[in-house]
Amino acid sequence: MAERTNLLDFTLPRLTAWFAELGEKPFRAKQVFSWVHQRGVDDFDAMTDLAKGLREKLHALAVVEPPEIMSEHISADGTIKWLFDVGVGNGIETVFIPEDDRGTLCVSSQVGCALDCKFCSTGRQGFNRDLSVSEILGQLWVARRRVAELGASLREDADARPITNVVMMGMGEPLNNFVAVTDAMEVMLDDHAYGLSRRRVTLSTSGVVPMIRKLGERLPVALAVSLHAPNDEIRSRIVPINRTYPIAELLKACRDYLAVAPRDFITFEYVMLEGVNDSVANARELAKLLADTPAKVNLIPFNPFAESGYVRSSDAAVRQFQSVLIEAGFVATVRKTRGDDIDAACGQLAGQVVNRMKNKTIPLRKVAP
Ligand code: SF4
Repeated sequence: MAERTNLLDFTLPRLTAWFAELGEKPFRAKQVFSWVHQRGVDDFDAMTDLAKGLREKLHALAVVEPPEIMSEHISADGTIKWLFDVGVGNGIETVFIPEDDRGTLCVSSQVGCALDCKFCSTGRQGFNRDLSVSEILGQLWVARRRVAELGASLREDADARPITNVVMMGMGEPLNNFVAVTDAMEVMLDDHAYGLSRRRVTLSTSGVVPMIRKLGERLPVALAVSLHAPNDEIRSRIVPINRTYPIAELLKACRDYLAVAPRDFITFEYVMLEGVNDSVANARELAKLLADTPAKVNLIPFNPFAESGYVRSSDAAVRQFQSVLIEAGFVATVRKTRGDDIDAACGQLAGQVVNRMKNKTIPLRKVAP
C-alpha cells in the first residue's frame, strides 16, 4: 500500500484542500479535524457522523499518527515527562507541568539544536533534524489524551488540570523550524481543534531576529526571549547567536513585535550562572538595558549537567538579583523547579539522540531555551 497521509500534518485549510482533491466538501474536513483534535480520535470508524464511503476512503489513504511514547515519568508533584520516539534512535521530550490555575505543556521543535548555547546540553550535542508538523502537534495530541487518562491519579483533588497553555520551549530553536512550528501552532489556536488563545501559546526563541519579524506577520503568539545576559560581551560568550544578532537588534525586534503581540510585554528568560551573569552589577545593567522594553524577567536556576562547566547561582544571589529588578520596576519571577524527582526540571530533560554532526549517541540534557 502507498504511504498513507498523516492527518496530524495538516492545518485546517490544508486538510480542506486535501479533501477537495478527494472530491469531499469542506465541512467534511472540518468534521474530521474536530474528531482528530478536539476529541482525540484516531480511529475513522469511531467518527460516526461520517458517511461510510468517506470512512473507507480515509482508511485507505490516511492515518492519525503521532510519535510513539518511549517512556513516561510522573513526578510526585504531578509533572509528567514523555520521551517520544522520532525514529533511528532519536528521542524528543515533552513535559506537562500542572499548576493551580493552569496546565502547561512544554513542546520540542527540533531533534537537537544548532545554536550551541553554552549552558545547554541540547546545544552541546548539535543539530539532528527539524520535527514535522505531526511530530510537534503529536506531542500535544498524545499529552492531552494521556493527561485525561491519568486524570484522577495525578492530583489529590482528583481534578487533573487539563492542558491550558503550550510553550514552544522544549528541544530546539522553534524559529529555525518556522514553517512546521507555525503550522502546528495554527492548529493549536484553531477553534475547531484545541482553541487555545494566542496569549496561552508562547514561543521561546534565543533571538533569531528576522524570524521574530516573520512570526509577527504569520502568527503572533506570546513571545519569550532567551536573553541570559545584560550585555553583548557576556551574551556572545554564552549564546553565540548574539554575534549575528546582537542585543540592540534583538530588543528592537521585540519592541516592534509588541505592536502585534497578544500580550503587552515580552518575557525574558535569564538562566542564573554563578560568577558569569548573576552579580548585582549585572542585575543593574539588565534593568538599564530593558528600561525601554515592556518586559517580564523570568530567572531560571541553572540545573547543572555533566561537564557543563557552569554552577547554579546560590539562592541568595538569585533573590538579590530579583530584588534589584523589582526595585527597578520590573515584574521578575524565579522559575519554580518542578519534576526534580523525574529529571524533568528545566535543564534536566534527558534522552538519547544520534548526533549526525558528531556521529555519536549522547544523552540529551537541556536548559529551556
Ligand atoms: S538553549 Fe535553546 S536555542 Fe540554545 S542551544 Fe539550547 S535548545 Fe538551542
